[in-house]
Order: sequence, then structure tokens, then C-alpha cells
Amino acid sequence: MAVRSPAAGAKDYSRKPVPFTRVKVTDAFWAPRIETNRAVTIPFIFKKCEETGRVDNFAIAGGLMKGKYKGERYNDTDVYKTIEGASYSLAVYPDAGLDAYLDELIVKIAAAQEPDGYLFTARTADPTHPQPGIGAERWVEENVSHELYNAGHLYEAAVAHFQATGKRTLLDVALKNADLVASVFGPDKRHGFPGHQVIEMGLVKLFRVTGNEKYLDLAKYFLDQRGHDVKLTFYPPGSRFAIYNDAEQIQAHKPIFEQAEAVGHAVRAAYMYSGMADIAALTGSEDYVRAVDRLWDNVVTKKMFITGGIGARHERESFGADYELPNLTAYNETCASIGGAFWNLRMFLLHGDAKYLDVMERTIYNGLISGVSLDGKAFFYANPLEADATFEFNQGLKTRAPWFDTACCPGNVARFIPSFPGYIYATEGDALYVNLFVGSIATVDLGTCPVTVRQETRYPWEGKIKIIVEPENESEFAVAVRIPGWALGRPIDGTLYQYDQEAGIAGARRTADTARNEDARDVDRATLKVNGNSVALAVDKGFVRLERVWKKGDAIDLDLPMPIRRVVAAAAVKEDAGRVAFERGPLVYCAEGVDNRGRALDLEVAGDSSFAAEFRPGLLNGVVVLKGKAADGRAITLVPYYAWSNRGAGEMAVWIKKR
Ligand SMILES: [Zn+2]
Repeated sequence: MAVRSPAAGAKDYSRKPVPFTRVKVTDAFWAPRIETNRAVTIPFIFKKCEETGRVDNFAIAGGLMKGKYKGERYNDTDVYKTIEGASYSLAVYPDAGLDAYLDELIVKIAAAQEPDGYLFTARTADPTHPQPGIGAERWVEENVSHELYNAGHLYEAAVAHFQATGKRTLLDVALKNADLVASVFGPDKRHGFPGHQVIEMGLVKLFRVTGNEKYLDLAKYFLDQRGHDVKLTFYPPGSRFAIYNDAEQIQAHKPIFEQAEAVGHAVRAAYMYSGMADIAALTGSEDYVRAVDRLWDNVVTKKMFITGGIGARHERESFGADYELPNLTAYNETCASIGGAFWNLRMFLLHGDAKYLDVMERTIYNGLISGVSLDGKAFFYANPLEADATFEFNQGLKTRAPWFDTACCPGNVARFIPSFPGYIYATEGDALYVNLFVGSIATVDLGTCPVTVRQETRYPWEGKIKIIVEPENESEFAVAVRIPGWALGRPIDGTLYQYDQEAGIAGARRTADTARNEDARDVDRATLKVNGNSVALAVDKGFVRLERVWKKGDAIDLDLPMPIRRVVAAAAVKEDAGRVAFERGPLVYCAEGVDNRGRALDLEVAGDSSFAAEFRPGLLNGVVVLKGKAADGRAITLVPYYAWSNRGAGEMAVWIKKR
């Protein structure tokens, strides 16, 4: 494999994430999750893929066994995503059995590839009787067929597998497929774009690993082509595919530079916006930067749930109108949260502003990890902000399910969790960004100087973070420490959510006057020290930049007090009127019936009621609960939102009535 050597002056993100392979997580919050994902979730999903015919589909299409294609036309992607997650896991946790299992799967996948590179088992298994929705011929119904969607997940899996194992087996399959797609689609060729985005990110990864600009050009072409001269296939009313009759659903209603509002299917949108950020960085196109910035502003100021979830409607799995943020019927697909994390990391890498990390952290710690149960083998498709013990919000269930007919979310969790350590740090030249606070040991190349960075912290339960910097040689560089928006009195950029100024902070009752007086909040202020000496909190774009000559053992102490905060939503969000949500640190809390006499929906809190935080080691794998009194004097216990519904189905509320 030729290692890519970028041409002089090649454009890319100014900042680079420190790869997850260089960051070993050692804490009590993420390390067990990563281990559960490795030991439980990945094998569990592979087993489900086998039981449901997803693996056999490859063998059948490849002529290795007889049988009929089973399931939905995009089922190949569940196998690809889990291979991607398994590869990330293998990269840091050698496992000969898993390695061999992936080899066996890849033999079947390679067998299913047609001689010219086409790979889509739903057609190849029986080309004369095409599955519903895939069209009579290749790509003729691409707005519905998911052929290019399947390809995109193949590319991401292939790059992960190559990087983890050094084997080209799956990468060669992916490149052969991408070469075919690039020979078919383009400005002077067939016109088209995927009905379900993801291939854009996949092609960028192929470009990064091969250096072949053809893949980058194709990713850009697919984005540029949206909203232009492509005829969509329309389905008769009553058809299960009729939802795709609307170009808005697949973000093809306008050229991307004219799209100012996030609309349509939220997962597709989040993947598309991530791809746009990649193209913005890799081409330096200001048009792309402006377009993706505008969409981010719309989502974050008008369409995002407090949990970081996106996609208000079950109907069509789509965004709602501005400020349409229902609680009971919030969709917030787990995949959309994962797409949101991809997108916000890229926006940070593009702009260097921590406001994107504020959204990313909010999403990851709340509406993303809620998608998987604590035991690693049950999943949410939808992540609502309220449950009434009646509405079957999770594909017909009222709690997490072990599997779905359309099983996009489990595989997405399986690939996100092991890659999470790659979200903690980034570098820009000889500057190190500390983006997230996770007990870990990282080895980072800063310019020419290798630096070991250790974080010691009990985050997200406590806000004390010690960062020990150990350059191999005494050396001058910058460490930019993120000061989260929540620690500066701002849940996210914009005014969609704000901390309730009238509510008590840290459980203490304050008058509106003192609460408005910033100086009165010294007790809640973040502080930063280097080797025991206080440093002024000069925050620029969400970071305090510490530039100095660093030597082995230098220590940064960041203290982020974690008062219990109440959040109010903008008045335009009708569903949250007269309600507050509780937060502590990066976590959003909720009331569950199981902790509150079976009821969560009728709880009311008074504006001056005090709440206290308490760590409960035996509850939900160890969580800080918030304890207080309802307006009627009865006790209320709140648990972190991500951990809800691990004790059976029941009532739940994030937004609680304020008396
Ligand atoms: Zn999903």
C-alpha cells in the first residue's frame, strides 16, 4: 500500500484529531463502556447479523450457498458497520479469534462482489427478481435503493479494517467498488447522488488512505449534484416508499449552497453535513464553509433537543419546523446523534471553536449513549425526552430492544464507542487541544516533540481534572484547554436553551438580583492552575491557551464546579413552556417513575426548591443522582438521562413542570 504523501500546499482541516489508537482510556465511565462494546455488543450484533440472514445474504450473492435474500435492501450495512467497530476494537485490543472471524466475513463479502466491482447483495442474490425499492437495474432508483449508502459503509469499514490489521482484503473490495462508482457517476457521466448519504465521508476516507483525488472529486460531485438535474423515482401513494417522493426528505430539494434550513431525514442530513465539512476542509471552498455554517446555526439555534438529539418527528424520521421540539414524540434517532457527533467534531476541526465541542459533548454524553443499554445488548432507535408508559416509541416497544428489522442504530453504536477516545484531543501544529475530559493516557506528536498527556479525573461526576504533560524533552508549545460552555453559564451557542437565572444555583436560593450579578457566582467559577499557580481564565473561542516551555511532570489543574443547573427553553418551544430541565456538568437529568413512586409526568418543582447531588455507586453502574423536593413536598430523584430505561419501561420526563 502506497502511503499517501499529500502534495505541497494540500488543503485539509487545520486541526487534526489525535487518533483513538494513541489515547488509552483508563477512567471509570468510558473504559467499562468500551470494554462492554468489545466483549458484548460487537459479538452480539454479529450473532444477530447471522441469525437474521445478513451474513448469508453475502454468501448467497457470492454463490457460496443457496437461498433467497432476506430482509431490507440496506442490510449489508449492518455487517459493514460492525466490521468497522470490530476493527477499531482490534486496533487497540488484539484478538486472534475476532481477526479470523472478520477474515471469514470478508471472504463472503468479496464473493458477493460482481466482476466489475458492483456490490449490493439485494440485487446480486437474484438480479432477475429485484427486491422492492432497488429498481430493475443498477442505480435507477438510487433515491430509494440505498446502493450508494451500502457502498459508503463498505468504504468506512474497509479503511478501518486496513488500518487496524494492515490487510488489504476488504480495502481492495472497497476500492474496486469505488472505482466502478467513479466510472459511472460524474459531471460527464451518469448524473446522480445517493438517496441516503454516507458515501461522501466514506470516499473522503478512501482519498485519505490512497491519496487518489478521484475519490475526493466523487464525494464533492455527489454533494454538488444534489438539487440539480436528477429525476427522482416517485412511488404511488400507499407504497411504503412513497415517503421518498419528496426531495426534501433526502436533502435534494435545493442545491446545497441554497439550503439554509435542516430538513428531511435527520440521519441523512447529519451525514451530509459531515461530508460537507470534509469537502470544505479539503477544498478550502468558502461556499462550502458558508453552507455548512448556516445549516449548523439552524440546527443548534432552532432544531436541537437539550440532549443533543436531532430529528423531531417519527414521521419520516425527519426534522420538524423551527422550534418543533416535542418531548413524548421526539424521534432523536441514535444514528442521528452519532451523525451529530461526527459533524460537530468536523466543525471544530474546521473552525477551532469550542462551541462545536459543547454540542458534541452534550450529544455524546446524553442523546447518543442513551442509545445502548448499560449491559450492551439492547438499543434505542428513538430517544424521546418523555415516556408515558403507553406510547411505543422504540419501534413498537417502550424500552430498549435487542434488535430491529432496520438495525442501523446497533451497528452505529458498535462503531462509535471504540472510536470515542479519538474525540478527546486534537493538535494544530505544535498546539495541543484538550477537548474532552476523560481519564486517559495519550501519546501525541507535537511538531517534532512526542508528548505523553495524562488526565486524571472522575468526570462527568466531578469537575476536577488534572492534566499531566510529559514532553520527551523540555519544549515550548501550547496546551489549549477547553472551558465548556456549561461552565461559563451557556448550555449551547445561541438562545435555544439558557440556564434559569431565577432558579437557585448549587442548591442555594438566591434572589434574582444576586443571580444576575456575575460576581455573586465566584463559587461556581471554573479555575485553572499550572503547577499550582492560578492562571487567568482568558477564554478565547472556548479555550484557555497555555503557551510555555513544558517539562516532564508539569501539571494543569482545571476545576469545573458542577452546580445543579436548571435550563429553560426559548419561549418559541411550546412543549417546554413552564418547564425546567436539570443539568449537572455535561449531563442532562430526567425523572423516572421507578425512582418517584411510579410517576414522572405529574411532578412539579418549585422555583426555590433545592437539589443536592449524591453519588450512588450501586445504581446504574454508578451515577450521581440529584435529590430534591417536589412542590408538594415529596422527594424527587433524578438520574442521568443516558441511563434511563435500564430498569424496565415506565414514565420518564426531562422537562419538569415548574410551579
Ligand atoms: Zn439508526
